[in-house]
Amino acid sequence: MNTPSSVIQSLHESYGTYRLHHLSAAACVHAEVQREIDLIVARGAGVVRRRDIGRSIEERNIVLLSAGTGTRNVMLWSQMHGDEPTATLALLDILARIVQDPLTPWLAEMLSAITVHMIPMLNPDGAELRRRCNAAGIDINRDARAAVSPEARTLLKAYRELTPEFGFNLHDQDLRSVGDTTQPAALALLAPPSDPARSVSHTRLRAMRIGALVATVLQPYIGGRIARYDDTHECRAFGDLFQSLGTSTLLIESGHWPGDPEKEYIRKMNAVAILTALWSIAAGSYEDAELEFYRDIPVNGRRVFDLLIRGLEARHPSGWTGPVDLGVMFERNSDRAIIKEIGDLSTHGGLETHTIGARPLPPQLARVEAVVRRAEIYDLLQIYRHDAGPGS
Ligand SMILES: [Zn+2]
Repeated sequence: MNTPSSVIQSLHESYGTYRLHHLSAAACVHAEVQREIDLIVARGAGVVRRRDIGRSIEERNIVLLSAGTGTRNVMLWSQMHGDEPTATLALLDILARIVQDPLTPWLAEMLSAITVHMIPMLNPDGAELRRRCNAAGIDINRDARAAVSPEARTLLKAYRELTPEFGFNLHDQDLRSVGDTTQPAALALLAPPSDPARSVSHTRLRAMRIGALVATVLQPYIGGRIARYDDTHECRAFGDLFQSLGTSTLLIESGHWPGDPEKEYIRKMNAVAILTALWSIAAGSYEDAELEFYRDIPVNGRRVFDLLIRGLEARHPSGWTGPVDLGVMFERNSDRAIIKEIGDLSTHGGLETHTIGARPLPPQLARVEAVVRRAEIYDLLQIYRHDAGPGS
């Protein structure tokens, strides 16, 4: 097989030729995804096999897409949280790459060594409403043990049938920093623990090696912007459960990239990283990945805001004034912004940062946890920038 670096480079450089251009995070609802799946299956002429494996509470079908003839199974599932579409788009991009030219030597070898099984959009009802939980308000990733929801039951049934050697649990995370740095985390990884003691079993060790591999291959494209997700054991979560059942499972959380609100770059990084990981599982090359590259990943931190405004001046009716920065977080899928911190934020970063210089902080923004419209803050920035000439 090719060396990984040449595979990664070609996946990266040719992404525009296989990316599904008309599918975006905003359009990632069940009907659109089903339409794309139909097109992929038709284009693949047998390369990608489709099977309905379950239905959501609101009767939307949940689909399993399989490619490959290998006896070793790998299972990937996305969007069990309805408002986390990035990896669904990446999975469909990967399938589009497979059907684009399944005879590419490294791809053909991969698909003869393993069979890849994908469940894109496990929670179609949540996706429709752009919310985390299913139609009954259940968080599917806290339903692995009880399996009350049809969505969790569908995933468990597929799991029992396939008994995959490797699993990929794909999510989007809230805005986090890379450890205590001011850098936003583009991705977060975790090989979830299978017990409260977080012991490192053979199964989990292999997942850590896949994590090390993903961190290494993405390094040239995202620098150090990769974090490790909280590793507290949660027995109701699927990753923790599957890890305990002997499937080496990696959690990949899509994070954030400056100037990329639709997460297009993160989607691309997902597609490249997952395809590379699948290739390395097929080739067995992940076993050479250095564990330090997983263990040394800084944990998710909280040192970054959606919007950071430096150089404001707080004013109090008593006559006191003082220089402050303003840290603002945006609510997902809404136009609301929350004032999170006021004061010295020199230790923090922003997905978007503005330095305006000794302008008054309006009273409606001068309270922590105040909720305002995003537009209100941008209008203010517009006025300040207009007054001060071109700013940052
Ligand atoms: Zn999630």
